Amino acid sequence: MASLTRRRLIQLVPLLGPGLAAAQSQSLLQEGDDEAKAVGYHADAAKVDAKKFPKFAKGQTCANCQLYAPDGNKPSGGCALFYGKDVLAKGWCNAWEKKTGG
Ligand code: SF4
Repeated sequence: MASLTRRRLIQLVPLLGPGLAAAQSQSLLQEGDDEAKAVGYHADAAKVDAKKFPKFAKGQTCANCQLYAPDGNKPSGGCALFYGKDVLAKGWCNAWEKKTGG
């Protein structure tokens, strides 16, 4: 880095910026994805049919699931079930587990 001139750095930043951003954000899990269908993932917990998913109880969302990993204040975050894909905080699936601890 020491040998880089200021001018060269200014040229590189626009090239590096989008690449870094892309590496940080994961694609969003879609309800139609096979892995989502396997666990009855819903992008909106308010639309879960409780008759079809008797395990569902009002108030359960990804945001208060033990397997959810929030990403700051973003509306989506990681889920231990889905590697490389984010789920919506307001979503829900049949593997919901009550969050314990902090
Ligand atoms: S396991 Fe939890 S965080 Fe992951 S999709 Fe299901 S309800 Fe959401």
